[in-house]
Amino acid sequence: MKREDACAIYRALATEYAAGKEPRPFIHFENPFQSLILTILSAQTTDRAVNEIKETLFSRYPTPEALASAERQDLERILRRIGLYRTKAKNITSAAAAVAEEFGGRVPSTMEELLTIPGVGRKTANIVQNHAFGIHEGIAVDTHVTRVSRRLGLTDHTDADRIERDLMAIFPHECWKMINYLFILHGRSICKARNPACERCIIRARCRYFRETRGA
Ligand code: SF4
Repeated sequence: MKREDACAIYRALATEYAAGKEPRPFIHFENPFQSLILTILSAQTTDRAVNEIKETLFSRYPTPEALASAERQDLERILRRIGLYRTKAKNITSAAAAVAEEFGGRVPSTMEELLTIPGVGRKTANIVQNHAFGIHEGIAVDTHVTRVSRRLGLTDHTDADRIERDLMAIFPHECWKMINYLFILHGRSICKARNPACERCIIRARCRYFRETRGA
């Protein structure tokens, strides 16, 4: 796909989903530490489930130091309503310990440093950078971004790192901040995993999937 088509897609989605508004993070946090922990917890569960345990979790464990020394059973009880809670309890304890011990209790802001924290891959690091620090070194690629990007023809890859590289190559840097947000909203409402609503899609004229399956 040409850059001008990618930019036209971006403009259409930005007008549709973010006209005149700053995107509001799907996960509600009050500081970089909460952003980091909640983003790790959000894997394979809903944002709503994560937002619902936030108060309880951070009222008991408000700092990296406190969370690093949390009693595992208590933590698992708090996380029980979200998927994979045992693994996640372990992961956030390790991440909190790394922040406390390696970074003096402050979540780092660079990609390089964030990636040293256990359980943090590029997707989580991008989300934390974007939301907590307003830094955009990359584009967070999740299941919606993957699906929408592949259908549109922005990438042919299935691997998140390669998809991210393709998106970074085609979209100008000023678009990176909102790609994840816009593609998630479009993926949830129109370009669904099953039965995408192509007839109602405002970007179908530039979509490879539409061209190949319905537009011929
Ligand atoms: S035309 Fe269909 S497949 Fe393409 S982006 Fe829109 S909903 Fe998704």
